Amino acid sequence: KANREKLPRYPGLDRWILTQKMGDGAFSNVYRARDSQGVYGEVAIKVVRKYELNASQGDKHLHPDVKKGNKVVERANILKEVSIMRRLDHPNIVKLIDFTEEKAYYYLILELCPGGELFHQIVRLTYFSEDLSRHVITQVAEALKYLHDEKGIVHRDIKPENLLFYPSQFIPTKNLKPKGPDDEDKVDEGEFIPGVGAGGIGQIKIADFGLSKIIWEDTTVTPCGTVGYTAPEIVKDERYSKSVDMWALGCVLYTLLCGFPPFYDESISVLTEKVARGQYTFLSPWWDDISKSAQDLVSHLLTVDPEKRYDINQFLAHPWIRGTTEPTKAAN
Ligand code: ADP
Ligand code: MG
Repeated sequence: KANREKLPRYPGLDRWILTQKMGDGAFSNVYRARDSQGVYGEVAIKVVRKYELNASQGDKHLHPDVKKGNKVVERANILKEVSIMRRLDHPNIVKLIDFTEEKAYYYLILELCPGGELFHQIVRLTYFSEDLSRHVITQVAEALKYLHDEKGIVHRDIKPENLLFYPSQFIPTKNLKPKGPDDEDKVDEGEFIPGVGAGGIGQIKIADFGLSKIIWEDTTVTPCGTVGYTAPEIVKDERYSKSVDMWALGCVLYTLLCGFPPFYDESISVLTEKVARGQYTFLSPWWDDISKSAQDLVSHLLTVDPEKRYDINQFLAHPWIRGTTEPTKAAN
């Protein structure tokens, strides 16, 4: 409640009652909100600032008419993010409910993922069991299959911060009394407890299509018969761009299983070199108890040559994903 008083008021968002800040970005803030008209229930609102702030203007009191700052978010980019999200309909992808803009802001009204970022769950649990990792990564892969095979879209920013979830269980820690009719806007305090079993961690959803790109559109797909005239560089280009998501999927899977990313260095130039060479290891002792099959799958994703890297269908067909491998340990 005390938290709510600190939430800013944005022009043109009168319909929505902001209840909590969910995310913080360089140019966007994401809030949990409730529809005062009761149509949509709870949503997430991504507020994207159009202009850079002056230091003196502070964080949130940018007057709509003040345009001193440089444009930070190109209109075309936001419209692209919106138009890509509008054509998507998949249980593992955050849905766009509405899009509006004011002089100084864009607003994306999004399906709420009350569990927040997968990232926080990795931090909380240190790492995921193989079963929980499979449960999570399979859902991400299902969304990627839909994007790559059905929609011709590459996400290009797959990472734990952009993987959100709808939790399977909510464990209240406070407000244990049932809500009365007057407590409508009271938010229960508690924790979402992920676990293997009935619902695993819950439903995983891919968010943030800010960097995504359409590689082919339903409407521009040439009718059967003329497909054969497509140049090889176009075909290859399409394959390469999809493979960036597969690399990222490998990084996410690696991180889920052991709790730290495959590539890391304090120096950006050293890190860049490590990535370029695909220099990673299944570091002992952290990887000692993780199955060979899981390592095999990771290594098919963290393959430098995009031609040899697994595509989404090879990924989904791997024995570790299908759960058909023996639960043998890597060690001994
Ligand atoms: P950015 O382009 O600034 O990274 P994102 O779309 O990734 O913007 O949103 C930033 C953060 O806000 C996310 O990492 C997540 O923590 C939170 N967030 C975004 N969308 C939602 C949502 N639908 N439900 C819950 N939290 C969200
Ligand atoms: Mg993001």
